[in-house]
Amino acid sequence: MPDFANLLIRWQQQHGRHDLPWQGTQNPYLIWVAEIMLQQTQVKTVIPFYQRFIETFPTVAALAKANLDDVLALWSGLGYYARGRNLHKTACVIMDHYQGKFPTCSSEIQKLPGIGRTTAAAIAAFSYGESCTILDGNVKRVLTRYFGIDGYPGLSATNQRLWEKAEAVVPRSNAQINMSVYTQALMDLGAMICTRSSPHCIVCPLQSHCTAFLGDRVSCLPTPKPSKVLPSKETVFLLLQHHDKLLLEKRVNQGIWKELWCLPEANKNHHYQSYCAQMLGIDAVCVDLLSPPIDHTFTHFKLRMYTQRLQVKSIFQQPQCNPICWVTADEAFRLAIPTAIKKILSKYRVASTPTSL
Ligand code: SF4
Repeated sequence: MPDFANLLIRWQQQHGRHDLPWQGTQNPYLIWVAEIMLQQTQVKTVIPFYQRFIETFPTVAALAKANLDDVLALWSGLGYYARGRNLHKTACVIMDHYQGKFPTCSSEIQKLPGIGRTTAAAIAAFSYGESCTILDGNVKRVLTRYFGIDGYPGLSATNQRLWEKAEAVVPRSNAQINMSVYTQALMDLGAMICTRSSPHCIVCPLQSHCTAFLGDRVSCLPTPKPSKVLPSKETVFLLLQHHDKLLLEKRVNQGIWKELWCLPEANKNHHYQSYCAQMLGIDAVCVDLLSPPIDHTFTHFKLRMYTQRLQVKSIFQQPQCNPICWVTADEAFRLAIPTAIKKILSKYRVASTPTSL
């Protein structure tokens, strides 16, 4: 496939993206933060988060020194919070074990927490011009169509074939090939031309060799994920109101919301007033169950969230388990809170008077 890389590079130089906030640098820290944020997240969503993050933590040293709470507060709304926790952890590893310097090859970068093969390859290609292979969702779609590969890409056999193809087309140490441009070209083609629906084959630089295009199979590839109904769960969040403040507790246990501030969570079988007394040391009376419930979809399940409002009468004991804080709704939005909890607080934002939620 001798022309694959050159066709892509020529196209990227003329039509690709050149002014994203993380482009025009070879600083591996700036590239790493962007690559982590871009996992599972669209460019236009990432840009404001990235700019705020880099303004606050301009170097790996600044990030390592930061409080995890402050890192997660900046991550709040971007989802997949393990990425933010790993970013902070990795910054500490780089300071403690790599003298504050990013490793300079993809195999070493890949040993860092939260950095997989594709992310390591992208950092190495953009920062050091290393000849290495990326295979993110966009690139999988391009290669699936270009080589006419059947089978859902999430299956390991299909994934394996795609890695082999990606390896086969990547340019090998060649002074003529700019790996940074090649890597960006693959990403850009997947994002801008070979899109999930209605790809723009007519202007695609790979069109004349593309198996799916030549075989009129573009709309069939990649093979869709076998349909599966997401399981549903229900839960109850307690909106404890004390004057103009709400109670938040920090999740210290494992789980997707680890280290984030949440409303206390109960289940429908609890007697909420007894629960508050026993678990939180708070004497409170139920006001109402706010309706309708709010739905939130995670990757692996759907969550129906009920919100029980309670008015606090007295606080007779500090809770034993999780750290807590009392904040106004406005203050809550400045903390690291999950998007699902933001949905509740947005809908039922506490007004200034104690009884008018
Ligand atoms: S010709 Fe169409 S299907 Fe093939 S790689 Fe280009 S955009 Fe994708």
